[in-house]
Amino acid sequence: MKNYYDILDILPTATKDEIKSAFRKKARKYHPDVNHTIEAEIIFKQINLAAKTLLDDNMRSQYDFAYGFNKKTDHSKQKKFENARYNYTKAKESYKKQTDFAQYFYNFFKETQKTAKTPKKINGEDIVTNVTIAFDEALKGTSRKVNILQSEKCPKCFGAKFVNGSKCTFCDGKGEKVSYKKINIKIPSGIKDGAKIRVKNEGEEGKFGGKNGDLYLIVHIEKNAAFKSMDGFAYLEVPIDPSEAVLGAQIKIPVPDCGTKVLKIPPKTRANTTFKLMESGFLNAQTNKRDPLMVKVFIDISPCMRDKEIEMYRIISQEQNNTLREDFYDRKNYN
Ligand SMILES: [Zn+2]
Repeated sequence: MKNYYDILDILPTATKDEIKSAFRKKARKYHPDVNHTIEAEIIFKQINLAAKTLLDDNMRSQYDFAYGFNKKTDHSKQKKFENARYNYTKAKESYKKQTDFAQYFYNFFKETQKTAKTPKKINGEDIVTNVTIAFDEALKGTSRKVNILQSEKCPKCFGAKFVNGSKCTFCDGKGEKVSYKKINIKIPSGIKDGAKIRVKNEGEEGKFGGKNGDLYLIVHIEKNAAFKSMDGFAYLEVPIDPSEAVLGAQIKIPVPDCGTKVLKIPPKTRANTTFKLMESGFLNAQTNKRDPLMVKVFIDISPCMRDKEIEMYRIISQEQNNTLREDFYDRKNYN
């Protein structure tokens, strides 16, 4: 069997500090948390026993005497042998009984491991969440309180998972606390359906000095909205009949928030003409006035025209002498 000095790789003249530092060095290598071999387990027990014996003045002098490390002694070999056996057995027993010592070094080892090793930075994950807003909110801009599930370092064990050697009861040994966090997110006006808003640092918490993740809010706009969006303004398409297009008319237009307004269609209005109805759109928070409402007209006929009406068109068609399509084809370079 190797003697305790050989086990710790130290000289028999080693000081207590040298013994401690040698032990730490060995323990780091052979601790069962690090090294899972049977051999390491045996060595770890040996270095514990060696350090325990050599750090105790009484036990060390007896051990030295028994193994002849103390040159001043002058005893017979038999006596040395007996003493050595006695001490070894005694030390072994007390080692078994006294686990405090091992625990002390275990904790010490853990502490030094923490400071010695610089853990790798781990960046927090991004969090993606969805929100659906109404059409007018998309136009005007709005805000949403978002409830997100975030994990952060446990406030009791600070991520160590253990408190005084036993599992942290606060986080159940997970090292982190999972909680809902309310974050108020501003949604800018004129946002498009499916747009992503990034909120920096509000994702999962980074570990060991790693960066926090970001929070992404994906904005959906309600599909069944009566109003569409054009250049950031509310927008409507409205049919007018041929006589209104030719003669001009005053037509009722529904405006946001349930009212109606009158739009004046001038005579000879052509299809797809867009009108800007001032102060008839959604309320603008910045100006505290209503934005314009965009109205595009298209020419249509009623599905329930009376016979008399249709007869009138016959007269019109006989009077018609225009080159509507020829002009169109010319414009489009069809001939
Ligand atoms: Zn904890």
